[in-house]
Amino acid sequence: MRFFIENFGCQMNDHDMEKMGSVLIDHGHTPGGGLEDADLVIVNTCCIREKAEQKFYSLMGRLQRAKRKRNLIIGVTGCIAQQEKEGIFERLPFIDFSLGPSNIHRIPEALENASGASAFSAFADNGRSPSLTIRPHNTRRGIKGYVTIMKGCNNFCSYCVVPYVRGREESRASADILAEVAEMASRGITEVTLLGQNVNSYNNGSDDISFPRLLKKIDAIPGIRRLRFVTSHPKDISDELIGCFGTLRTLCESIHLPFQSGSDKILSLMNRGYTASEYLEKVVALRERCGDIAITADCIVGFPGEDESDFEATMRLMETVRFDGIFSFIYSPRKFTAASALPGIVPPDTAHERLSRFQKLQRTITLDANRRMEGRRVEVLVEGPSRNCAEELMGRTRSGKIVNFTGDESMIYKLVDVDIIKGYANSLRGEIPKPEGGKRC
Ligand code: SF4
Repeated sequence: MRFFIENFGCQMNDHDMEKMGSVLIDHGHTPGGGLEDADLVIVNTCCIREKAEQKFYSLMGRLQRAKRKRNLIIGVTGCIAQQEKEGIFERLPFIDFSLGPSNIHRIPEALENASGASAFSAFADNGRSPSLTIRPHNTRRGIKGYVTIMKGCNNFCSYCVVPYVRGREESRASADILAEVAEMASRGITEVTLLGQNVNSYNNGSDDISFPRLLKKIDAIPGIRRLRFVTSHPKDISDELIGCFGTLRTLCESIHLPFQSGSDKILSLMNRGYTASEYLEKVVALRERCGDIAITADCIVGFPGEDESDFEATMRLMETVRFDGIFSFIYSPRKFTAASALPGIVPPDTAHERLSRFQKLQRTITLDANRRMEGRRVEVLVEGPSRNCAEELMGRTRSGKIVNFTGDESMIYKLVDVDIIKGYANSLRGEIPKPEGGKRC
């Protein structure tokens, strides 16, 4: 059967998509075709933001029409599946199966039942899920590999649906993670990103090793050249973890550290567990340890109760930190969450106007950060041809910035030194250093 997986959402979802693809390949199915001609379409969903949910339902309308015209098996996985559980079959009666994120290992079973009278479903989320330990084939990403180290979250930020749809925190055994990374290294993967909703909580309350110890052990695996992790919660960044930056050979000089708001009143309403000044203390400690660290973040604008002074506090925090990049969103109420019942809804026009001011300022800060790279020589991991120009190559610095430069195909998947000659809003332009005392042709 030819399959196609449509994915919405975060890196965790990207990785779940790879896992599902690998399970399907192992059971004799072939990737290929698109929405228009695959025999099996799986839609891996996200309900973190309203927009992704709206896009999902509009895609399902298209798939329903396609199913009327040809034999097509349709499955829904991910957060919306988990959120709606059996209710999804009332809204989408034409789908053949629905699996929560902890049940994606059951796809073969779902397919066996696809011709049955009733749709197949699995939403259990108890104990260590086998889905956590599926090792995907590295079919899409060349020398980059992703490893889930934990799932779920115990934090219950008031706006976030993750604890309800991904369950409580579950960490994977360190021995299993280390074996997977070693096996990836033996396949030529040089950059590993550790994934989890809150990786800093890895193995909290367990006898297994802590997150910083895990980083140290991965750092010692031969063949691994770059190590990243996402996502971190500011309240859980320990001194030991901060001490890993600038010390571990492979640990890249970048961190994604969502701050969400610069107002203590809003942070408290969000149940984030830190104040703006505590957040800034972590940033100072990270920069003292590793001056070159690139810091990116998430921020929500227009949270219930946010007034102009709260928003100004957010803008001040942003200017103080001068982030390398920020993913910013207008707040949207999510099912189950405490914030959805909060008073003080910010009018949409006000929220949009604040987001636009916010993004305008961040664009200038990002551009400034990129321009400050001009004249520096950096190590770039070359990922392939540039998206904008097939004759050029594209790679990333250790700090995660995109660099486009002219080079030859033999450089793809290698680490090369590149001189940065221009910083733009979203990327850098580089050139291969000229040989000492000679001309480059
Ligand atoms: S830390 Fe907060 S925002 Fe992040 S996944 Fe957990 S509940 Fe959601």
